[in-house]
Amino acid sequence: MGSRAAEALRRLAAELAGAAAERLAADTGARAAGGLTFMEVCGTHTMAVSRYGLRDLLPAGVRLVSGPGCPVCVTAMRDLDLVVALARVPEVTVVTFGDLVRVPSSRTSLVEERAAGADVRVVYSPADAVAMAAAEPARQVVFVGIGFETTAPTVAAAVLEAQARAAGNFSVLCLHKTMPAPLRALLQLGETRLTGFILPGHVSVITGTGCYEFVAAEFGAGGVVSGFEAPDVLESLLMLARQREPAIEIQYRRAVHPEGNPVAREFMARVFEPSDADWRGLGVIPGSGLAFREAFAGFDARRRFSVEPGEPLEPKGCRCGDVLRGALDPSGCRLFGLRCTPETPVGACMVSSEGSCAAHYRYRALDDDGRGLA
Ligand code: SF4
Repeated sequence: MGSRAAEALRRLAAELAGAAAERLAADTGARAAGGLTFMEVCGTHTMAVSRYGLRDLLPAGVRLVSGPGCPVCVTAMRDLDLVVALARVPEVTVVTFGDLVRVPSSRTSLVEERAAGADVRVVYSPADAVAMAAAEPARQVVFVGIGFETTAPTVAAAVLEAQARAAGNFSVLCLHKTMPAPLRALLQLGETRLTGFILPGHVSVITGTGCYEFVAAEFGAGGVVSGFEAPDVLESLLMLARQREPAIEIQYRRAVHPEGNPVAREFMARVFEPSDADWRGLGVIPGSGLAFREAFAGFDARRRFSVEPGEPLEPKGCRCGDVLRGALDPSGCRLFGLRCTPETPVGACMVSSEGSCAAHYRYRALDDDGRGLA
């Protein structure tokens, strides 16, 4: 980072310190709660916060915790087991994004299944999986649909393409989740008194900001949709600290508009409808996932294959659920950095490139080497 950029960050940090001090002087509730606590709910923000060492720049009385923003990390163990069970079906090729292959399920992982002979492949786009199905008609190609509103429209587009190409050997295991619902679940839980959210930038490109209004209106918490560079996140925290009345604002104005992207939402709504979804750490949240509409049931891998994954087993000692609710800092897990490292992950939060434990581990090492921001 150049000296001008570092100076700009220091200036923002100083402004944040001033705004937080003023807010705490005026806000008895926040003072009683021990300060201002903000949560980022996007895995890319989690990585950015750790990569840029932003927590080191936070003033006294301001805390930033990570929430359920990593799609692989919030996937329930029962669903991970289902992916593995599908990989064991002889005619099935399981196709997924790279993050998922090393994530531990109850008894094994996709990478272990692949070593044992399962056909597991990694793609960069769901369209690649449709092309694979067209090229290999003897295989049943199952794409694992994981992700929020950022990813779901591209998977819906792939399903429409498969339909147009009459690719009868293509299906999707739909494990998609949608973002506003877990914010309500967290606020209702009230485990941590949250002053406001750093809202996800990529998801909000699609959803717009109307879906977050309940955060301010019903729960009195603020929200700022943030970009992903260090100054973006600090400016978003500054905007949150300056809010005298809770509101939903956009810092990431170069990409996010209040109305979002209606075309992408229409793609999603053609193929999928809201459904209940099971979140690691939060349990089943009504209406927080996506399921195939009846007209597209033929592409639903759950209906096409009857597999029984067995009872899920959570890894002993793993505190991913607490980490994903912002109730525990990753280093508070007794396995962190000892039994659980990116090379020997015990839980999903240590595997995914957007996982909180992976972010803390990776950039903690950088800090120890003296290569942090400060
Ligand atoms: Fe789970 Fe490992 Fe994170 Fe602990 S450090 S919560 S075991 S992923």
